[in-house]
Amino acid sequence: MHIQRIAREIINRSSFSTAAINEGTFLDQVMAYFNKAAGHTKISQDKLDFYKSTDIVIKFNLPLVRDNGTYICVPAYRAQHKTYRLPTKGGTRLSPHINIEEVEALSFLMTLKNSILDLPYGGAKGGIGINPRKFSKREIETLMRRYTLELAKKNFIGAAIDVPGPDLGTGEQEMSWMKDAYTKFKGHQDINSVGCVTGKAITQGGISGRQESTGMGIFFATREILNDLKYCQSVGIEPSLKGKSIIIQGYGNVGSFCAKYMYDYGAKIIGVAEHDGSIYNQDGINPYELAAHKTKTGGVKGFVNASKYWEDEAAIYQQCDIFIPAAFEKTVNANNADKFNCKIIAEGANGPTTMAAEDKLLSKGVIFLPDILLNAGGVTVSYLEWLKNLKHINPGRMTRRWEEQAKHRILEVIKMSTGLNINVKDSKLAKKMLEGPSETDLVHTALEQSMIEAVKNIMLTSQEYKVNLRLAAYISAINKLNEHFEMAGVEA
Ligand code: GLU
Repeated sequence: MHIQRIAREIINRSSFSTAAINEGTFLDQVMAYFNKAAGHTKISQDKLDFYKSTDIVIKFNLPLVRDNGTYICVPAYRAQHKTYRLPTKGGTRLSPHINIEEVEALSFLMTLKNSILDLPYGGAKGGIGINPRKFSKREIETLMRRYTLELAKKNFIGAAIDVPGPDLGTGEQEMSWMKDAYTKFKGHQDINSVGCVTGKAITQGGISGRQESTGMGIFFATREILNDLKYCQSVGIEPSLKGKSIIIQGYGNVGSFCAKYMYDYGAKIIGVAEHDGSIYNQDGINPYELAAHKTKTGGVKGFVNASKYWEDEAAIYQQCDIFIPAAFEKTVNANNADKFNCKIIAEGANGPTTMAAEDKLLSKGVIFLPDILLNAGGVTVSYLEWLKNLKHINPGRMTRRWEEQAKHRILEVIKMSTGLNINVKDSKLAKKMLEGPSETDLVHTALEQSMIEAVKNIMLTSQEYKVNLRLAAYISAINKLNEHFEMAGVEA
């Protein structure tokens, strides 16, 4: 193996166990999955080589004067894996481990994910090389704004070009800074400037329901797969998510919401690992209480309703029905694969399982619910936010008033045509009609339907090709890419 790669792997070690150094990079892993799936298609090798290559990747440095007055240079990246559909779309992470191959791998996964959900985007991913825990709010704001300016100057951001969303270490605050920096720089030239990023705060053009969308999407997809009796029988697992015991790695935006929806549905959260250790309780952990604890303390350590606490990730190896990695890539790897004691791995993170680990666990009968299907809920709701921005909808103000007037008129028509004396003030039905569904209702419904449809399609591919769900997800995405290029061609 290349010496540089080995060095990179060592640098990449985080508080969670990462891959054995002989397993190759994250990009190697994604390529390996792609190649394995591609072997089931009839697409020629030259075309496959083109589909998997990264179209564009850039690296640049951001200067920063730290709060203590010292100057530093921070590396920043953006990869646009496939620009065949514009804009490209994918998250922005703040992580000290970020590097060119990581953003390439993540942007590749975004191309596949967007394709599986039929979102009209190529895949992208980017970020800044810092540990956000070690930087002040002012320092992070400065970096986010400068990152956006540099992307804008290079024509690497815009509602029709490339639309960053949130990812590890970023949320609505960071995305709002990006939107603000972009609109100040380009707003006079770009009427869709607000749609330059997604995951923004509502006051900045965001959409209700974006924050919980990735976790909620994992819940919907897992529920649907486990409700498929024929599938469960074919792979030898008990159907239904209800009553299943669950252990989660990472209790951030993805893991915590996923835990809440699964718990509300009747599953039991028995273990959680975070950066400050891991906790366990055979009788179940209340995910709402744990979320409140994490907000207060920053981690899981000291949570009162846990029967066990370890300083490391030990909870993830305890016996359970479903293990949900919701942190970094390659946390299930050749080094630790033998330690897992679960029946199902539901991949909330991007690329959490290396191929060597998957091979080991498949041979033990473990079922994988693949990342590019399972965690696609985030970008799906980002799509709704982007559509909302392109329509220039400003909810809660003008449009809300018009909608109400229109609904009053509809009620008048119902009254006239049915002779029913619907009293707007007293009738529950009339009140509900006037209220209409909230934006959150609409987003959650659209997300649920999108995930149900995506699961159905992958199930069909899995039956048609007689392969597992990961291979089916890759095959489905590869076939869609192929269909596109067969019609569009590749040359200008
Ligand atoms: N970070 C999200 C993902 O990995 C996507 C962000 C977005 O563009 O909405 O799927």
